Amino acid sequence: MKVEVQADKCIASGQCVLLSDVVFDQDDEEGIVVLRTSEVPESEQSAVREAERICPARAIRLAGSGG
Ligand code: SF4
Repeated sequence: MKVEVQADKCIASGQCVLLSDVVFDQDDEEGIVVLRTSEVPESEQSAVREAERICPARAIRLAGSGG
């Protein structure tokens, strides 16, 4: 499973990082989302799905199959 973020939409709420700090990070200045990896590890998949669901800016998008 792959994930993409649209940093221009992100409002720096930090929800995604709370769910998975393996996949998501925030930049030090503005708190805008930074992807640590676009390839979601098995162990992070449910957290990343949840992040996509709750992101208030709808800036997270899942891609690829694999469930
Ligand atoms: S949850 Fe969405 S708006 Fe909040 S930091 Fe992550 S990508 Fe940005």
